[in-house]
Amino acid sequence: MTTFDWQGCFAPLFDDLDSRGLQHWRILLQQQLHKRFDENPHGDIARWLRALNTLPDLTGVESKLNRSAITLKTGHPLSQEDAEKLEQGLRGLMPWRKGPFDFFGTYIDTEWRSDWKWDRVSPYLSDLGGRQILDVGCGSGYHCWRMLGEGAGRVIGIDPGLLFLFQFLSVKHYVGAKNRIDLLPVRMEDLPAKLEAFDTTFSMGVLYHRRSPLDHLLELKDTLRPGGELVLETLIAEGPEGYSLMPEDRYGQMRNVWFLPSCDTLLRWLDRTGFRNARVVDVTETTVEEQRSTDWMRFQSLQDFLDPDDPSKTVEGYPGPRRATVIADKP
Ligand code: SAH
Repeated sequence: MTTFDWQGCFAPLFDDLDSRGLQHWRILLQQQLHKRFDENPHGDIARWLRALNTLPDLTGVESKLNRSAITLKTGHPLSQEDAEKLEQGLRGLMPWRKGPFDFFGTYIDTEWRSDWKWDRVSPYLSDLGGRQILDVGCGSGYHCWRMLGEGAGRVIGIDPGLLFLFQFLSVKHYVGAKNRIDLLPVRMEDLPAKLEAFDTTFSMGVLYHRRSPLDHLLELKDTLRPGGELVLETLIAEGPEGYSLMPEDRYGQMRNVWFLPSCDTLLRWLDRTGFRNARVVDVTETTVEEQRSTDWMRFQSLQDFLDPDDPSKTVEGYPGPRRATVIADKP
């Protein structure tokens, strides 16, 4: 099959949205997905679907979602034929950027050690048990699986990158609890206003890509029920309250980088957009150990985006990447 059966893929989610009084979102989503997949499909979809369909069906699969690599196992070794199909299918979904994953002993060493970010963020979260969670800009959904591993009631990740959806589906192909987790290929701006449907909303690595960061914060607030928790992770720049860095053009070779606030500026932004009790729980420099090229992501990576003569700076001469995690409450 070379067309993506999005209706089938998302049917359980649509039912779930209907039963939670979110029919208006379900209807909007169906229009958006129809446009994306039926009217104007991405040229690589057929290839990614073939890769997905190459993955072997295996019995007795167990998943471990609470360790650094999202791990899939069976009690018995894979046949040579299944092992070859697995490798071929997973290679067909390269480049793998967010992970790691362990598919039956095939370890996908992704560009990012996303587990390191999770280790920095997770100690500070309200217990995720039973919660309704939204992960904005979720990439391949690595952190969504970790959230499910913490007992979340339901996780919805959103990310416009379509390859990420097919990487996510390659994991989901093997995991039980299928009705508690989905990745939707939409942008934050595509969600209906005032959803107020989530107990915890994550936005990690997205704020600096938004031209209007304050609007992003307001949109995030609208996704939360009163009393809900925002978990925000973003690039920052050192400086006093009020300071933020706007690169002239690229930052660390990334296009689409708009504002790197200081921590105090970020707290002020959260306060002014109506969050309460905003607190910085972590500040960490991104290293070339955390973000690097691997056998599963063969393009350039952080090392190539830093000044070779002074790796504390980006190639453009800006301070190197430093990220803060902030947690805040919606009143
Ligand atoms: N949250 C993951 C991935 C961060 S990379 C992590 O922290 O590791 C940033 C992601 O945000 C990219 O996958 C990109 O596709 C996504 N993104 C960019 N603009 C977005 C938008 N407007 N709405 C939702 N996601 C967006």
